[in-house]
Amino acid sequence: SKAMLFDKGTKVNITFADVAGLDEAKVEVMEIVDFLRNPKKYTSLGGKIPKGALLVGPPGTGKTLLAKAMAGEAQVPFFSLSGSDFVEMFVGVGASRVRDLFKQAREKAPCIIFIDEIDAIGRARGKNALMSNDERESTLNQMLVEMDGFGSDSGIIVLAATNRPDVLDSALLRPGRFDRQISIDKPDLAGREAIFKVHLKDIKTSQNLDIHKLAEQTPGFAGADIANVCNEAALIAARKNKNGVDMEDFQDAVDRVIGGLEKKNKIISPEE
Ligand code: ATP
Repeated sequence: SKAMLFDKGTKVNITFADVAGLDEAKVEVMEIVDFLRNPKKYTSLGGKIPKGALLVGPPGTGKTLLAKAMAGEAQVPFFSLSGSDFVEMFVGVGASRVRDLFKQAREKAPCIIFIDEIDAIGRARGKNALMSNDERESTLNQMLVEMDGFGSDSGIIVLAATNRPDVLDSALLRPGRFDRQISIDKPDLAGREAIFKVHLKDIKTSQNLDIHKLAEQTPGFAGADIANVCNEAALIAARKNKNGVDMEDFQDAVDRVIGGLEKKNKIISPEE
């Protein structure tokens, strides 16, 4: 939310068990978790630990969740901010926010800094942005200064998420900055089943659900959409004064979420 502009080194309880599917991405991020846990093991032969990694994938696929899980697994504080928070800010405010964030992070290292929607800050020059160019550039420059300013042995890992890696300023992708890319894709059938299982843990059901069928009925859904289905189903059942959620409620919830997604797509691409 806007009121809390960034997580200031929050302790997180989220682990990889909360992140369903994304098996390949998990293997890659586990390596980063191990850098945080055992830095000396990796630097002993003269290697440099990467400072940053870019999580690339469509909205709602679990990029934020995975970043938090990394902090949870490594048992380090989690700092975050979102590029969209900087939209319409006065010139200089973004840069000082970034400076502030890294200062706090340095004090609490080892830690993870997560920058959501980095494309809002890190767009290449001239690729129209929501932010004024001056403000965007001063914020971006400050981020580059900060990333270059800490050593690879500082214990700070900066993760950034985007669904538009193509518009990013190449300065961000240089070695010593976000030089690793981890792709986070929409889940396949098995992935959707796994995500349903994670979110059903919090739901009181009245019968055995056909999770495979639900996964089959939700092609193209991101994890966030599936979480939404589970929540809607619980509300639909409760509205009907049921004691538990059943398959019919889930079916209604799937229809409702599909309706919502269709509306959203119409707004995004009116020509279709
Ligand atoms: P955005 O790009 O819109 O910020 P995101 O990729 O960061 O999206 P998250 O915010 O991590 O997505 O996902 C939103 C919610 O969707 C999560 O808090 C979680 O409840 C659910 N979710 C998404 N992906 C998964 C997953 N792989 N496993 C379990 N839950 C998931």
